[in-house]
Amino acid sequence: MDKRTIARRQFLATSAGVVAATAVAGGRAWADSKAKPAGLAVLGGEPVRKNKSWPAWPYVDDNVVNSIVKTTKSGIWCRIQSPHGTVPTWEIEFAKLVGAKGCVATGSGTQALHTAVEALGIGPGDEVITSPYTDPGTIAAILAARALPVLADLDPESYQIDPVEVEKRITQYTKAIMPVHMMGQPAHMERFLEIAKKHNLKVIEDACQGHLSVYQGKPLGTIGDVGCFSFQTSKTISCGEGGAIVSNNEDLLDRCYTVHNHGTSRRGRTEVAGPKYRMNELEGAILMGQLPTVRERFELRNKNANYLREQLKGFQGLVPQKLYEGTESGAWYLFPMSYHKEHFAGASRATFLKALSAEGVDLSPYISNGLHREPWIENVLGNRVYKELFPKEHLQAYREHTACPNCDRVCDEMAMLWASGPLLGTQEDMREVVDAIMKVYENRNEFAKV
Ligand SMILES: *Cc1c(COP(=O)(O)O)cnc(C)c1O
Repeated sequence: MDKRTIARRQFLATSAGVVAATAVAGGRAWADSKAKPAGLAVLGGEPVRKNKSWPAWPYVDDNVVNSIVKTTKSGIWCRIQSPHGTVPTWEIEFAKLVGAKGCVATGSGTQALHTAVEALGIGPGDEVITSPYTDPGTIAAILAARALPVLADLDPESYQIDPVEVEKRITQYTKAIMPVHMMGQPAHMERFLEIAKKHNLKVIEDACQGHLSVYQGKPLGTIGDVGCFSFQTSKTISCGEGGAIVSNNEDLLDRCYTVHNHGTSRRGRTEVAGPKYRMNELEGAILMGQLPTVRERFELRNKNANYLREQLKGFQGLVPQKLYEGTESGAWYLFPMSYHKEHFAGASRATFLKALSAEGVDLSPYISNGLHREPWIENVLGNRVYKELFPKEHLQAYREHTACPNCDRVCDEMAMLWASGPLLGTQEDMREVVDAIMKVYENRNEFAKV
């Protein structure tokens, strides 16, 4: 049967029983819904969601405000003024929250990653394998240490780096793997740990999107040698700009402290080269103010994400992120899906997003180019430092192997719901997201012509 002509109802009837059961139990075979709006909003019909906003982000309540006031009045505005100030307290609390032995707070996720790279002794002439599909902070941290980021292609369904591609890119210069837990859901850590063991590499988890998410019983950030988090405004725990390093290796954490404190150790000696990356006490105050409620929001995001996944199960037009076995929960920094235009009468993603937006549901294409397609590569390879550190043929081979076709595909297909705000919505909000998608799907032959 031509998949393009399968209507939602047929789709339900022909897919697994469990899907149909869910749809009926949820009262949502929407073709029967009395609220069924007439035509597509983009063509002048009633939108599914009208005059509604999503829960506000970033999260602010009285507790957050009081915490800032308290720190401001205390006069302790810098972490070295007191061992019991807001930042040292946050470090203890955040380590507890993720079940790590300790934590060093920094001014950003990028700073956390750079500190971890330096503290592991990775630097000029070394390579770190990571993802092309990530925040630029991931590679900035490697480049700041004058090491070379090597980008491995993705599993196009999970949006995470593919272990097979990682293994292919190991060279005599490789010192570490930096898996990124993209969208806040776990990367394939079991395989990365195996590969690291086999090749004697360090594992630095970029958990900048992955707060509180659990994989095989372990919170993200505590699985590799070291894990790094971001508390930048958009992240699910946030304070404007902020970051954290966690580990179960106390010596390594001690080195991280030294590096991030302009090379000056807890013992007061200036020991190594290091930037000044200390978290500000007022940033710590915002985080401490959020602490009592972070778990609640994490659970709500998981509940809503599970609902959306359940509703979209078996639907081939918009496919949610593939999760690896062992994923127990996700931070759901974003709720990402792959748009397959062949199931939407061939309409481009831009046309689909426009039609959906008119229904009151905004999805974003997110990253438009993987980092393998950004100009930094030429600038770095042309840089004197790198030209002196690596043989010419090695840099030539590097340049020739930058293609990441699966990443390109992900960039082209991505349609994601910002999770920090929207995923804190009600069940009704989530239902409307699905209704809007299904309305556009059912009318695909109309909007495809727009
Ligand atoms: C946000 C982010 C970073 C960088 O964190 P900042 O706090 O913005 O410096 C790094 N990696 C990933 C995956 C991120 O999402």
